[in-house]
Amino acid sequence: MSTQVVDIVIVGAGPVGLMCAYLGQRCGLSTIVVDTSDGPLKVGRADALNARTLQLLELADLFDELYPLGKPCDTSSVWAEGKFISRQSTWWENLEGCFHKHFLMLGQAYVENILDDKLKKMQSPVRRSTSVENIQINEKGCLTTLSNREDIQSSYVIGADGSRSFVRDHFKIPFEIVRPQIVWAVIDGVVETDFQKVPEIIVFQAETSDVAWIPREGKIDRFYVRMDTKDFTFEEAIEKINRAMRPHSLRFKEIEWYSQFSVKESVAEKFFVQDRIFLAGDACHIHSVNGGQGLNTGLADAFNLMWKMNMVLKFGASTELLQSYESERKPVAQSVIEASGELVRSTKYSETGTHAQDYVKIVQKRAGNITGMGIRYGEQGLPGSRLFDIEIYHGTAKTRLYSLLDYTQFTLLIFGDGKVELNLPEFIKVIHIHPKNEGEGYWTESSSYVNQAVLVRPDSYIESSMSLDQIESFTSPQLFRISNGEYSL
Ligand SMILES: Cc1cc2nc3c(=O)[nH]c(=O)nc-3n(C[C@H](O)[C@H](O)[C@H](O)COP(=O)(O)OP(=O)(O)OC[C@H]3O[C@@H](n4cnc5c(N)ncnc54)[C@H](O)[C@@H]3O)c2cc1C
Repeated sequence: MSTQVVDIVIVGAGPVGLMCAYLGQRCGLSTIVVDTSDGPLKVGRADALNARTLQLLELADLFDELYPLGKPCDTSSVWAEGKFISRQSTWWENLEGCFHKHFLMLGQAYVENILDDKLKKMQSPVRRSTSVENIQINEKGCLTTLSNREDIQSSYVIGADGSRSFVRDHFKIPFEIVRPQIVWAVIDGVVETDFQKVPEIIVFQAETSDVAWIPREGKIDRFYVRMDTKDFTFEEAIEKINRAMRPHSLRFKEIEWYSQFSVKESVAEKFFVQDRIFLAGDACHIHSVNGGQGLNTGLADAFNLMWKMNMVLKFGASTELLQSYESERKPVAQSVIEASGELVRSTKYSETGTHAQDYVKIVQKRAGNITGMGIRYGEQGLPGSRLFDIEIYHGTAKTRLYSLLDYTQFTLLIFGDGKVELNLPEFIKVIHIHPKNEGEGYWTESSSYVNQAVLVRPDSYIESSMSLDQIESFTSPQLFRISNGEYSL
């Protein structure tokens, strides 16, 4: 059998591997994604996309298709002693530079199925019912051997193969797991109840806080129930729900998915090996589901990694750019573990017995992680911060800044009047945005970025910014924070 040659082999077609393959294909890279399963997820697992993920989806033209399928939810409520004692959404309402200030409640299966279908249409379907059995680093990159004995030569391999990652184990990357002895039941289904249904995340306070009701898309609802031991029955979980929502009662008319999981927490010691093998998603970070950050963090890994591979493979950027994947994403993974870890422990332990209120306070404190909007790749100022989405007009037609961005390129946004002559590399698209309607071109009334030139990375974080009177004296290398390579990317 001859050896096929591609840019990137992706191990695992969960949401993260699928997103890596889809983004790679959009950038014009050749990818092969391999998965042991025979098809994408049908039900269960992650249930919410956060506001930052919704912005990232827009960069890859996925937002319009996914958004109408989900249910917006911006409120966390506490129910105790037969009534709601608080309802909060301030951490969503106060978000700046974003138009979808909420979770989109939508099952992981929708994300996987849409991406799986896109890859088929891109003539690059997932190789199903196939596993990866060996990976060797050689002088040309990586040689991957599949279970059907086929060999594939590639520049890079991405291990997006989940929490029990073969790739991570194969390269002996330490992944020490903390087990806080907390067990949950999770039930998705159609409920019948005299409790008035609200589109809010409800945390119920009984002796502790061991029940949460999560609104979902379509006609289903989800319940998380913290159980005292691993050996529990479905009936015991339902009993806990009914005790928590007294004086009301609830039963499931239909069950779509029922599972249990024990909380495990870990971050891989390294996110890459010899600049060739990269880990993404659950392969390099696992934690409790509280705060709904697993899928969101994994998708953000994919958006961080793939444009960097594109710049290295197509535009000669240095491998230092690839290494920044770990220096940017590992601290995020660590902060996600802290946030979800604090949340999950508060459901069991409280000094004042007010577990549910404590929980919502932690959500508020950790809102940067939970909304995804607090993630930044730089200490302070504009460089490393996310680009704000703002209203933009083209003549009289209204649009939003994010609808103009394109994941395959950098974008230099020039906010102000006057002409600017620049000699830029081909991977930077320039968009001039005037302060008022000039009859043609884009304009905005927003006070963000006035008289600034803002260089935006493909994943919509700000690479650099300068005042307009400085821009012409900048040469392209000075626009980038990571030096080396032809264009100092
Ligand atoms: C009950 C539950 C509830 C959750 N709720 C949430 C939530 O509300 N919000 C949230 O953000 N996250 C949630 N998560 C977490 C979320 O599901 C995961 O973070 C997400 O699935 C990680 O995606 P991934 O692509 O990294 O890994 P996975 O989805 O695990 O995909 C890995 C893929 O790799 C394949 N694979 C493994 N080994 C090989 C091999 N050797 N060769 C080929 N293929 C291989 C597997 O078949 C699998 O398809 C939840 C998880 C669970 C279990």
